Amino acid sequence: MSDLFKSKATKAMLIVLLGLFSAQGAEEKRMEKKYRELTSEEARVILKKGTEAPFTGKYEKTKEPGVYTCRQCGAALYRAEDKFIAHCGWPAFDDEIPGAVRRNVDADGSRTEILCASCGGHLGHVFKGEELTKKNVRHCVNSISMDFVAEKNLDIPFKRAVFAGGCFWGVEYYLQKAKGVIQAVSGYTGGTVENPTYEEVCRKKTGHVEAVEVLYDPQQTNFETLARLFFEIHDPTQANGQGPDLGEQYLSVLFYKNPEEKAVAEKLIGLLKEKGLQVVTRVEPTKTFWKAESRHQDYYFVTGKQPYCHRPEKRF
Ligand SMILES: [Zn+2]
Repeated sequence: MSDLFKSKATKAMLIVLLGLFSAQGAEEKRMEKKYRELTSEEARVILKKGTEAPFTGKYEKTKEPGVYTCRQCGAALYRAEDKFIAHCGWPAFDDEIPGAVRRNVDADGSRTEILCASCGGHLGHVFKGEELTKKNVRHCVNSISMDFVAEKNLDIPFKRAVFAGGCFWGVEYYLQKAKGVIQAVSGYTGGTVENPTYEEVCRKKTGHVEAVEVLYDPQQTNFETLARLFFEIHDPTQANGQGPDLGEQYLSVLFYKNPEEKAVAEKLIGLLKEKGLQVVTRVEPTKTFWKAESRHQDYYFVTGKQPYCHRPEKRF
């Protein structure tokens, strides 16, 4: 076993990565870059290949054990043990997590740009031969292109929750923007047919509802926060569908994985009923979630359209 796989932090990080990227094709990877909204300054550096001012980034001098991840897509890029203080004004690493960083030699051959291999986000530049460390390499990375996950937090796995509230394009659009949501995937659940197609679900013979599976970081959010949001991004009182989309596949269902989540769902419905809302949302145990076709993923982000089917409304 290589040194890499002996590291507990690296193993945990790989588990996180597997959760994020398992069974996903290149197209989905490309789309994932839409998952995290960037501030204008982040976009200037990550998308437009800008550079943050030296000695201003928050990771320039950090030493805590852990993993540095891509600000845009969440992929693990560098281990803290490969970080060193280069006194250049930016975080410096003399090694990368294998396969995490792509190189792109500038047109004139003078500098080598480094990019996140998963999403193509700009990280900085890499230099050789400066004799600053034994490996003789310096990845000069903008702090703003990265996030940091402390080693003590790496063993806390991400969690999943599934919500059905009408057309999955809109539900995905709003859940994906929520704090702590790593990714939101459109799909089908609750029916009887394995791996159904959109056309089969639309023919209403499979018993599935359109649903969204959310992968979230339990250190930043929780089931109740997401469930509250779910009730505020769709109309839980509409019994025949959602908005203009009518029929069984558009019904409101909150899925639970354990008695605690069931209790949360029932509590929230109780709160809404106390406010006079005739909530029709069903509370059901989680069943197999089938990912929908690529064309349904990130629909509004890819098309640049606005959701027609969902309008957020404060209800709690
Ligand atoms: Zn990335």
